[in-house]
Amino acid sequence: MNAKDRRKAIAERRIRELYRLALMHIHDKELSRYYISLMLGIRNHYKVKLSKEIKSYICKYCKLPLYPGVTASVRLVSSHGYLAYRCLSCNRERHIFYK
Ligand SMILES: [Zn+2]
Repeated sequence: MNAKDRRKAIAERRIRELYRLALMHIHDKELSRYYISLMLGIRNHYKVKLSKEIKSYICKYCKLPLYPGVTASVRLVSSHGYLAYRCLSCNRERHIFYK
């Protein structure tokens, strides 16, 4: 593993850790957003990709983690094969396809 790969591996670990912290403090929206903003900063700096599990569950507009029942409402749109996550903070929707 060269130095660049090692840096990326550390960055990915920090991203996972920050996401975990954001979820842990999901009831404190500002703190949660702060962890997400740090996480996105690391992503931009080290140019690493977010995993699908993390990327899909962050509101694209207000950077809040989408946690069903707390920061998001979820509805199933079976005719189109997706879950509609509505951010309860900015009221915008994101579609997560399962088909
Ligand atoms: Zn939002």
